[in-house]
Amino acid sequence: MGRRQKLRQERKIKNNNPTSAVVTTAPEATSEGILSAAAIQAIVKEIDSVFPKSDEFVQATMDTEIINGKEHHKLHTNEQYALLKQGATEHGCIQSMLFLGEGHCNPMYLHPWLLEGAIRGSYRCIMHLIGKCYMHQAEPKMNRNADVLYGYWGKIATNIDTRLCPPIALNVLKDRLGRKCAICSKTDTKTLTLKQCIGCSFHCYCSETCQTTHWKEHNHRGECKQLRILNKYHKPYAKAIRDAAIRGDIHPALEKLRYKLGLTRPSEDYQELLDFNTHNGKSINPKDYVVPREDGTVWVGSFPSSSPIGSS
Ligand SMILES: [Zn+2]
Ligand SMILES: [Zn+2]
Repeated sequence: MGRRQKLRQERKIKNNNPTSAVVTTAPEATSEGILSAAAIQAIVKEIDSVFPKSDEFVQATMDTEIINGKEHHKLHTNEQYALLKQGATEHGCIQSMLFLGEGHCNPMYLHPWLLEGAIRGSYRCIMHLIGKCYMHQAEPKMNRNADVLYGYWGKIATNIDTRLCPPIALNVLKDRLGRKCAICSKTDTKTLTLKQCIGCSFHCYCSETCQTTHWKEHNHRGECKQLRILNKYHKPYAKAIRDAAIRGDIHPALEKLRYKLGLTRPSEDYQELLDFNTHNGKSINPKDYVVPREDGTVWVGSFPSSSPIGSS
């Protein structure tokens, strides 16, 4: 086999193996250059270690005891939650957001806290947002879809650190799904050329009927609109917001972005959801909270902004 042919084949293998992170220089790498799960975990932890820890976070998490060989937090869950929430809301503490978003406390708050961490550039929050919230949305027969958001955050994660090269950027995802109608799976033929959604340039449709079905019944509307918010109010400032967070500062673009995403909505807006799992008396699948509402904003917010900003 010629050298070029070999390289081509290697590239092909890499592309066909999208779940593995390929790094060749790390000492933990196996002979094939594929990292172990533990090595990936270590890198992911290290990336986020740049964010400062608030006193509340330290207090909430450091006081531990060993019971039956396992480490337990001494604080009662409610006390811990209150401290972490204080750390997150008053000091923008990303470590607190991550802890809350990992589901150590009230699971209902998982998505908003992960999104709060993600917009500030927490790699682990992004990974959890993808893994716990967006990756499993596109199951057949589920009238929701989050591939576009999955792709957006994959790209942001890659921009933060390339070592793990998460192969989830929008174009990779698009290649994996193939070019077919999002509703009926028709592909391009001599007589039919699929049309792309103008909003996200991600999904393709064979007809207006399929596009409308996807937009309304599968809530592509909400997803596409949230992508637009992220592209306009997050993407251009992503690095600056993250750099400020590392210094313990709040970038001016952050509050506007939070407002646009609906994270600053007053809790009365979604108290019914939190208390009864219902919206206007109708029950809602908790999985639906993580996909955007029709206007692209979140179902459940995190905390109201201290400095209200107009909608302009
Ligand atoms: Zn179709
Ligand atoms: Zn779209």
